[in-house]
Amino acid sequence: MNRNLAFIYSLTLILMMVLGTFTVERFFRKKKTSHYSLEFKDKNNILPVAIIGSGPAGLSSALYVARGKVFTTVFQGPKPGGQLTGTSYVENWPGIKKMMGAEIIQMLKEQTQSFGAKFSQDIVESVDFSQWPYKLTTDSGKEIYALSVIISTGASPKKLNIEGEQEYWGKGVTTCAICDAPYHKDGYVVVIGGGDSAAEEALQLALYAKKVMLLVRGSAMRASASMQEKLKEYPNIEIKYNLSVTKILGDGLAVNGVETINNKTKETGKLNVGGVFLAIGHDPNTVPFKDFLKLDSAGYIIVKHPTQETSYHGIYAAGDVVDNRYRQAGVAAGDGIKAALDSLEFLRMIGFSEKESERLESKFFNPEEGLTVTEVKEITSDNEYKKEVLESKIPVIMDFYAPYCPSCMQMLPVVSDVASKFVDKVKFLKVNTDNAPELAKKLNVLKVPYILVIKDGKIVYRYADVMTKRQLTDFVNEQLKNS
Ligand code: NDP
Repeated sequence: MNRNLAFIYSLTLILMMVLGTFTVERFFRKKKTSHYSLEFKDKNNILPVAIIGSGPAGLSSALYVARGKVFTTVFQGPKPGGQLTGTSYVENWPGIKKMMGAEIIQMLKEQTQSFGAKFSQDIVESVDFSQWPYKLTTDSGKEIYALSVIISTGASPKKLNIEGEQEYWGKGVTTCAICDAPYHKDGYVVVIGGGDSAAEEALQLALYAKKVMLLVRGSAMRASASMQEKLKEYPNIEIKYNLSVTKILGDGLAVNGVETINNKTKETGKLNVGGVFLAIGHDPNTVPFKDFLKLDSAGYIIVKHPTQETSYHGIYAAGDVVDNRYRQAGVAAGDGIKAALDSLEFLRMIGFSEKESERLESKFFNPEEGLTVTEVKEITSDNEYKKEVLESKIPVIMDFYAPYCPSCMQMLPVVSDVASKFVDKVKFLKVNTDNAPELAKKLNVLKVPYILVIKDGKIVYRYADVMTKRQLTDFVNEQLKNS
């Protein structure tokens, strides 16, 4: 009897446990999916997948999402194409022997567009992940509701935070050798850093400058052996070890030197140079997300390996914003593909089918709707400058660009879009510094992209960096207020 009772008791216990587990699992599964209603009666600007960032990670995500027949928009960010657009030749993108970084990005972008991916110039300024669909607010005030989000915002170059750096930013201090090397023809420049980026900057500069001094703060470089070998091929590159820059010097208009300290001997010194190129690593771009997502101690987004899922269901992160170890374009692309597959799986899980997509299509956020662009006139000669600029009755904004400068090429459509909002109030002109080097020199334009504001024939403002649509619009409004 006792044995029988014990048997029945154990059986009941096992049955309860099995049933219990099943019910709890079912409950959670149900809760997970039923939480996501696809009604959206009072919502517009819906995106099945919003991709934030347009480097190799974001574009690879866009390729897989769009090819998976799901509508997606890529928010290109303040530096469309990401870091790869600022490098010169890439020799380690699988399958391609040698190609400019910007070309790889362009090819990838066109490939995603061929499957229907859309691109927005709006910058995602803030997010609210506490509600679903996830809310993204852009710099032009648009509110987007995303069923799934892929964050591929990459990383930005670090700065030294030393005296003179801010004052001479764009006046000789920069992080883009590919953009600015031609302005240092036969000049003396320093590159600061000891990694692959520093080696790349030095190699790019060696094609123009008389002398490139690569300042490495320690006693060895961190760059790959092949990069270090390449440096040896250029007699005009000198590597100086144990040297740090403590101050950037100039004459008010442009850099003319740096103060240095030898980290071993503590000896101080000065180098007379016209250019300072920073290549001292990167910080992940997480500002809009950091209040919601789990980050590691260095500020990178934590994902649940082997997936790209963040601490929120349906939100994935890919590329340099999660990768503090490899930081390779190919790795970012792989991450982006994984994030896209994860995101497609999430949409399937919440019941977002092709049929649902068709039903909701009229509510989708399409950045190409209502986009206006104005053809910005190009000037090439001093005569045109006199006529179009000096004799203009309204303020003039000149955008200096070069075809080999990726951020300039990204800024041109921004300029034409903003120009369309200020017709008859501000005259926008563009100058290709390759076609008009004398004009650029005369106006003391030392880098690209570069904005000059001229009122009543006088230069009243100089800005030496890339601007987003919102920044340029605010900037123009500010200039008009001051007229
Ligand atoms: P890294 O982090 O690899 O290197 C940064 C360098 O800057 C280090 O040498 C570091 O010195 C130095 N540094 C940091 N802070 C300072 C400072 N305050 N003053 C002086 N020097 C400083 O960054 P990279 O941007 O070079 O590379 C990032 C990643 O991208 C790497 O994985 C790299 O391999 C990859 N990459 C690959 C390329 C390619 O394959 N073609 C091209 C470019 C980048 P220390 O060594 O003493 O810490």
